[in-house]
Amino acid sequence: MKNILIIHTGGTISMKENKETGEVNTQGRHPLEEISTLLKGETIIEDEILFYLPSPHITPDHMLKLGKHIHERLILKDYDGIVITHGTDTLEETAYFLDLYLQTKKPIIVTGAMRSSNEIGSDGLYNLLTAIKVASCDEAQSKGVLVVMNDEIHTAKNVTKTSTSNVATFQSPQYGPIGITTKKDVFFHHRTNHYDSYPIQQLSKKVALIKAYAGMDSAVIDAIRESGVNGIVLEALGQGNLPPETVPAIEKTIEKGIPIVLVSRCYQGIVQDTYSYEGGGRHLRDLGVIFANGLTGPKARIKLLILLEMTNNPMELTPMFSY
Ligand code: ASP
Repeated sequence: MKNILIIHTGGTISMKENKETGEVNTQGRHPLEEISTLLKGETIIEDEILFYLPSPHITPDHMLKLGKHIHERLILKDYDGIVITHGTDTLEETAYFLDLYLQTKKPIIVTGAMRSSNEIGSDGLYNLLTAIKVASCDEAQSKGVLVVMNDEIHTAKNVTKTSTSNVATFQSPQYGPIGITTKKDVFFHHRTNHYDSYPIQQLSKKVALIKAYAGMDSAVIDAIRESGVNGIVLEALGQGNLPPETVPAIEKTIEKGIPIVLVSRCYQGIVQDTYSYEGGGRHLRDLGVIFANGLTGPKARIKLLILLEMTNNPMELTPMFSY
């Protein structure tokens, strides 16, 4: 019999709808506390509430606390897998943080819900049961942190919330899910490349994320640099290009030893040093901008937050952003 630990952190999956006002909020008892009773006989479930937060309230400190908690629980007991319930708004950031932080072969599954527990068509209990199924599956080992929602299994690295309200919101653009679940089974149809893990002790740095737009100049980058950040992630245009008026701010930021990591605001593809015009990818690379291979802006920010605990040297950061 499999032994699974569920750690609740909050989000809609932990919330109820007020039938009179239609508001959704945390109230009283955790709506999914009864899960152990439901699964009696098939799996041994332990569950605990670590946080009770809507996910826009989750910070990198909470992510690190959760990571350390999982690490400690795995030392204390040989669980077969761990399921984390989380609000969907920042779920992909916590999942990717755990993917980079944890060093375990055990299945670590993150799930959530788009509809609260007493809403019609609520997906919370269903997603939780599916996540437990995947966490109990031997094939889910050594795949890094996985996100299980709506009968699909995604890698933490590629998954992103694509719709504000649809239950099929979690997608992995360009790559697709690595597996699916059915009523009876769990099927994996893609192999995963799992590369990096960084067991840092603290998250003490500040990293800002800035989206580029037509006509952008240096003002926003200058202001953010002067606010005292340790690193900047820029969601550039297309293949990794910026308006020429941003170049003075880029030069000044790099000169000050603040790394700039480039991703694209396109939701598919990777950034490349193709164009050599002023502000083009080739020009930015020559200025010392670091290219992140296929990550979204929020995920590149999580990775930079972690890596800055080890180095701010662009020569060392560049290869770590190539996978
Ligand atoms: N706003 C909610 C949260 O992320 C949405 C959800 O959980 O689905 O906490």
